Amino acid sequence: MDQIKIDNLEVYAYHGVFPEETRDGQIFQIDAVLYTDLRPAGEADELTLSTHYGEVCHFINRFLRENTYMLIEAAAENLTRELLLAFPRIERIELELKKPHAPIELPFENVSVRIERGWKQVYLGIGSNLGKRQELIEQAIMKLAKHKLIKDVKCSKIISTEPYGDTALYEFLNGAIELKTLMTPHKLLEFLHQIEAEAGRERKVHWGPRTLDLDILFYEDFVSNDPVLTVPHPDMENRLFVLEPLNELCPWYFNPVTGKSVRQMLRELKEAEAASETEEAQKQEELIKHEEE
Ligand code: ATP
Ligand code: CA
Ligand code: CA
Repeated sequence: MDQIKIDNLEVYAYHGVFPEETRDGQIFQIDAVLYTDLRPAGEADELTLSTHYGEVCHFINRFLRENTYMLIEAAAENLTRELLLAFPRIERIELELKKPHAPIELPFENVSVRIERGWKQVYLGIGSNLGKRQELIEQAIMKLAKHKLIKDVKCSKIISTEPYGDTALYEFLNGAIELKTLMTPHKLLEFLHQIEAEAGRERKVHWGPRTLDLDILFYEDFVSNDPVLTVPHPDMENRLFVLEPLNELCPWYFNPVTGKSVRQMLRELKEAEAASETEEAQKQEELIKHEEE
C-alpha cells in the first residue's frame, strides 16, 4: 500500500515517570508511516483526496503537548488511535516515538518505542430466535455502528432459517455483518458479549433459544485456536445460514486456515447437502421397494 512518511518530527512535551520530566519537559521525536491509497490524489492532483501531512504533524504536536503520559508506550498507543480516528483515509500507521534525552545517565543516542496499528476488516454472524427478533438485530447493528472504534458497518439481508441443533424451538433470523475496527479480537468479543447481555441473552443450553447471538467469523487473517475465541469460526463451512449472508458481503474472502473462499465453501456445502438428500431419497425408495416385495 502507498505511504506518506514523516521523519524525525520534533515536539517539546512532558511525558515521563520522573517529576522533573513532567515539570520541565523535553524533546520527543516522531517517525510515522501512514498507509493510505494515494492514487486518487495523485491522478487528480487534489489535496482533499489525500491526507494533509502538515495537518498530521500539527495534530501530533498538539496531542503530545496537551496530554501527559508516564510511558512513551502509552503516548504512542493513544496517539496512533487518535490519528486513525481523525484522518479516515489512513488505514494503518507505523509510529516510532523517540526520547533522545531520557534520564538514563549513561551515554546513548536514543530510546524509542515502535508500534503498528490499523483498521481491521471483520465479519460477524448475527442471529436471533427469541423475543422481538428483527428489532433486537437492528438494535445490535446500531450499537456496533455507534462505537467509537468501529466504522463502515454493512449488513447482509436477514434470512429466516430452521433451528440448528435439537434444542432450539423457534425459527432463526440470521445475517452477516461487515465492519472495520480498531479493537483487538478479544476486546471486540467482549463488546459483542456486552451487546448480547443487553439484549437479555441468557446462556442456558448450547444452541438453545437466544435473543441475540453475535459470532466473530473472520478478523482479517487472524487465526486463534483458543476456546474463548476460535477464529475463523470453526463451524462456518457447515452452516448455510452463515455462508449465504456472508456470500452476499464477501464472496471472495478467504478462510486463512483452509484457503477456501466463502463462495467455494457455500458451493461445496450446497453440493454436499444435495448429495445427502439424493442418498436419503434413494434409501427411502429402496425401503418402499423392500416393503412391497
Ligand atoms: P457456536 O459458536 O457453535 O455458533 P454459540 O454461538 O451458540 O455456538 P455461545 O454460547 O454463543 O455459542 O458462545 C460460547 C462461547 O464461545 C463464548 O463464550 C465465546 O467465548 C466462545 N467463542 C469462541 N470463538 C468465538 C467466536 N469466533 N465468536 C464468538 N464467540 C466465540
Ligand atoms: Ca453462534
Ligand atoms: Ca455465539
